[in-house]
Amino acid sequence: MIVLFQPHRFSRTQKLADDFGKALQLADLVFVAPIYAASEDPIDGVSGQTIVDAVHTHGDTPALLIDDLAKAHHVVGNVIEAGDLILTLGAGNVHEAGNKLIHDLKVIEELASECGGISMKLYELMSRHTTIRVGGPAQYWIEPEDFEQFRKSVRFFKARGIPVRIVGRGSNLLIRDGGIRGAVIHPKGGRFGEVKVHGEMITAGVGARFKKLSSVARDHHLEGFEWMEGIPGNVGGGLRMNAGAMGVETFDQVVSVTFLDEDGEVRTRNREEIESFYRNVPELNQNYALEATFLGSKGEIEDIQKRLDESRHHRITTQPKAASAGCIFKNPSSVGAGKLIDEMGFKTTRTGKAEVSPEHGNFIVNRGGASAEDVLALIEQIKEQALKTREIALETEVQILGEDDSLF
Ligand SMILES: Cc1cc2nc3c(=O)[nH]c(=O)nc-3n(C[C@H](O)[C@H](O)[C@H](O)COP(=O)(O)OP(=O)(O)OC[C@H]3O[C@@H](n4cnc5c(N)ncnc54)[C@H](O)[C@@H]3O)c2cc1C
Repeated sequence: MIVLFQPHRFSRTQKLADDFGKALQLADLVFVAPIYAASEDPIDGVSGQTIVDAVHTHGDTPALLIDDLAKAHHVVGNVIEAGDLILTLGAGNVHEAGNKLIHDLKVIEELASECGGISMKLYELMSRHTTIRVGGPAQYWIEPEDFEQFRKSVRFFKARGIPVRIVGRGSNLLIRDGGIRGAVIHPKGGRFGEVKVHGEMITAGVGARFKKLSSVARDHHLEGFEWMEGIPGNVGGGLRMNAGAMGVETFDQVVSVTFLDEDGEVRTRNREEIESFYRNVPELNQNYALEATFLGSKGEIEDIQKRLDESRHHRITTQPKAASAGCIFKNPSSVGAGKLIDEMGFKTTRTGKAEVSPEHGNFIVNRGGASAEDVLALIEQIKEQALKTREIALETEVQILGEDDSLF
């Protein structure tokens, strides 16, 4: 039994805190919303925390304060499991949180009945799924394990007019603090995690890490994949971004891509049929990559290992270790973005807990608890300065998604 309790009036909270603390022991988990004032003025030292403290005084029931009722359903909805009973208790407007939860629960229950076995969650925090550790909740977080589950979930949401996004390892993403309205599909495990070698080719699911591809290739004495070693993303994100390093880009090695098209059909297209640009494959904006085949060539394992070590060493010595989203800006034609940002004197500039990396000007790092707002403010400052002082219009490489405020 999970209880979301909204204390009513400051005076009652003060007088009855002890009794509430005892009564709430009947729950397994308690969330406490801010006090519903009902026209009363605040009383010093009396808040939702008063109830949390009283629950802790009178037993072992865990109790947590939620500081914003508008987001209470996100917190409660993210921890619930099948079979849980949720009670919203209070004389104010706490039922609104319950209504939002019921709406979203119905949606994923319908998806579960149409597409059994698929893993899904409400309001999964994107800060858990992005390498920069920033981002509000995804309204519906879906983890398909095979093409059919993927296809069915996309069709399900599209049929209801619910927007669909796809997220890989989140290593080139900046998700706004209000999170992502609609469905976020995260292909994971199962077929999406497979990496298979056939001759000089490797077929990988979009949920496989680039790092895995490079080590599988080395184990099979295949060269050409060493540059992937230090890219912290998955195959799907690498395809969409046409990721690259050491003078190689993903599409230099792609033989074919299997994807789900806008009509919900699974198709395979050869390299020549797909247009790719620097850090951009426009077609994968509309379509969802599911699997891809890459070409390497036979090589000596010692040489391959040497290049892997060089790549690793280069990254350790030139890139920050702190949480980041990789390069923030695309390189303009005239100068590297990192060099430009360094020349403009931005290294170590901070907004809140976001900082322009002292190691590499094109990285913004999270110094612990940064918000998307902090990172976006730095991005804007850098863009403005580049335009004003160098007449360079910087374009972001990092993909910026989501809403400033949670609208769901
Ligand atoms: C420390 C660090 C170093 C980095 N170094 C490099 C580098 O050297 N070179 C480089 O190119 N990048 C680099 N990056 C950026 C990033 O790792 C790559 O762009 C990577 O390919 C993104 O993959 P991902 O799985 O994390 O994608 P995500 O960040 O999850 O997504 C990126 C974009 O791809 C889309 N997408 C994801 N999966 C799919 C799919 N299956 N179908 C269609 N669209 C999809 C998403 O919607 C989003 O728009 C670095 C990042 C970090 C944090």
